[in-house]
Amino acid sequence: MKSDIRVCTAWKSEHARPVYTLDNTCPDCGAEAVNSVPAPFSPEDSYGEYRRSLKRRSRE
Ligand SMILES: [Zn+2]
Repeated sequence: MKSDIRVCTAWKSEHARPVYTLDNTCPDCGAEAVNSVPAPFSPEDSYGEYRRSLKRRSRE
């Protein structure tokens, strides 16, 4: 069973959180919705945060 969940490509500017839909476009803002999860926006942010929390952990 495949999941056809798509996510609004403009969620970072249009929404407070990722908007998921089964359609080709976001039901809220009408922007393109793409299959699969991670937003092409700034993966560095979350990775950075992830890394920082890892660092913090290893130091404690
Ligand atoms: Zn949207």
